[in-house]
Amino acid sequence: PGKRNYLIGGNWKCNLTLDGVTALVKSLNSAGPIPDNVDVVVGVPMPYLSLVRSTLRSDIEVAAQDSCVKTFGANTGETAATMLTEVGCTWVILGHSERRAGFNGHAQELRKGESNETVATKTKLAVDAGLKVMVCVGEHKQERQDGVTMKIVGEQLAAVKSALSTADWANVSIAYEPCWAIGTGLAATPEMAQETHSEIRAWVAKNVSADVAAKVRIQYGGSMKAANAKALLSQPDIDGGLIGGASLKPEFFDCVNGVP
Ligand code: PEP
Repeated sequence: PGKRNYLIGGNWKCNLTLDGVTALVKSLNSAGPIPDNVDVVVGVPMPYLSLVRSTLRSDIEVAAQDSCVKTFGANTGETAATMLTEVGCTWVILGHSERRAGFNGHAQELRKGESNETVATKTKLAVDAGLKVMVCVGEHKQERQDGVTMKIVGEQLAAVKSALSTADWANVSIAYEPCWAIGTGLAATPEMAQETHSEIRAWVAKNVSADVAAKVRIQYGGSMKAANAKALLSQPDIDGGLIGGASLKPEFFDCVNGVP
C-alpha cells in the first residue's frame, strides 16, 4: 500500500473577530495549490463555522473544535455532532489538551476537564454522526520525565478503542500532542516525536488491528511551524500536523508545503 495521505489541521482555538476570520479565509484562498498527497482542515470557532464553510476554498475542509458528549436535548451551551454536519463541517477536533485540562480556572496539570471516557464517547457520537475525528492524546511534562508517556497515551487510546468498532477507525486520526510542546514554542524534536508516533502505531497494531495501524494517520501537534514542519513531516510515522498558533498565519501553508 502507498504511504498514507498527510493530514494538516489548523486549530484556530478561541481566536479571531469576524474581520480576522474574513482576512484569514482570504489569505488561505489565495495561498496556492495544495499538494495531492495532503488533506487540509481548519478548526474554526463555532460561531464562524457556517461563514467559513461558505467562503473558504472547497479543497480545505472545516472542523469544529469540540462536540457534545450527548446528542440533541437538554444540553445547554453544547453543540451536537449532527449540528456540525448540518453546516458543512466534516471534521471535529476532540480531546484537545485544553479541553482535558478544563476551563474552571484549574491548573493545566490537574486534568479537571474532559476524562478519557468523555473524549471516547464524543468520538463515537461524532463518527456515528458522519464526522471524521482528530482525537488528541498526549502526556504532560512530568509524565514524560517520569517515563510514563505511553502509559498515559495508551490509557487515552484504550478508552477510544473501547468506544469504537474496528470500522470506525477509518474516520479517526490520532493527533499526538505532548502538552509541554503546545503553545510553548518548544516542539518535540523530530526523533522524539517519531519515537512516540511509532509506539502509538505499535499500540494500535496490538490493540486494534494491523490493518488499522497501517492506515491510521498520526499527526504531530505542539509548536509546529514553518521552521520545523519539514523535519517533523519527513519522519516515517508522522502523517501530518495539528497546528495552533501558526495556523493563524500565512506560515500555515509553509507547513502544508513542507510534506515530503
Ligand atoms: C494545538 O492547538 O493543537 C497546538 C499544537 O498549538 P500550537 O501549535 O500553538 O503549539
